[in-house]
Amino acid sequence: MKLSNPAHGARLEPRRHELEFRSAALAERTFLTPAYVRLRLVGSDLRGFDSPGADDHVRVFFPGEPGAPGDLRSAPSREYTPVTWDAAAGWLDIDVALHGDGVGSRWAEAAPIGAPVGVGGPRGSMVLAGRPDAWLLAGDETAVPAIRRFAAGMDDDATGRIAVEVPSAAYDLPVAAPAGIEVVQLHRGERPAGAELGDWLDALDVEERPDGCVFGFVAAEQSVVRAGRALLLERWVGDPAATIVKGYWKRGTAEYHAPH
Ligand SMILES: Cc1cc2nc3c(=O)[nH]c(=O)nc-3n(C[C@H](O)[C@H](O)[C@H](O)COP(=O)(O)OP(=O)(O)OC[C@H]3O[C@@H](n4cnc5c(N)ncnc54)[C@H](O)[C@@H]3O)c2cc1C
Repeated sequence: MKLSNPAHGARLEPRRHELEFRSAALAERTFLTPAYVRLRLVGSDLRGFDSPGADDHVRVFFPGEPGAPGDLRSAPSREYTPVTWDAAAGWLDIDVALHGDGVGSRWAEAAPIGAPVGVGGPRGSMVLAGRPDAWLLAGDETAVPAIRRFAAGMDDDATGRIAVEVPSAAYDLPVAAPAGIEVVQLHRGERPAGAELGDWLDALDVEERPDGCVFGFVAAEQSVVRAGRALLLERWVGDPAATIVKGYWKRGTAEYHAPH
């Protein structure tokens, strides 16, 4: 097994940004599955928006009903990945997993078109520089925006694997990727979120490690962190500078902040 290839290789490079807070409004809601919604946020403040890192996040502030009193910045907020934006026209799309509980999920499902919203950040980005020899991307619904952004940055000859965990086939979230990338949809059924993904990661052994620099991204419910680190950093001895393993949310905990 060849662990690194100096001719290739990839590294995550940190970039800091001036923290900006932008006011916007909900302009469109599109259901991508029965439990996954794309929201278009529109406003002149979003002109100039940028997000250079595929797993960047913005903090979205939900002030409640239009005209409700109170400062937008002190409204409850949650973290989401910018999916697509138009810095000239002033709009930003985010994709939100509807899980039935929580201020973000409820707002995404039911806020009226025109509802005000705040967008803070991104405050910093980890930008992938160079070309990995292979990719391993794994996550649940919350990580699909980041996975899709990483996949969009792959070249035609990219190789590797992507695994996405969703409840069942009716909730599949396809990821467009080059032919050399195997994409699997894992169905958790009645199992707790992350269990299926954790088993899939645990089942990959050393013999399955691609040669060279493998870029690894694993993000889902916090419990997946153990399996992600065990695979990428222990069994596959990956480069920490080309590895992201994060809990994007935590069972039973509202407004979870992943440790950075
Ligand atoms: C860097 C980063 C990027 C993220 N990007 C996205 C994204 O693009 N799209 C997205 O949907 N989420 C994303 N998330 C996850 C999102 O921030 C959390 O799921 C957040 O908790 C949702 O807020 P809420 O108000 O809906 O629920 P909360 O009020 O935070 O939580 C209420 C309850 O719901 C549970 N819960 C929270 N999220 C889920 C879930 N997904 N499924 C089941 N139960 C849940 C909690 O455990 C808690 O018991 C990202 C997180 C991080 C750290």
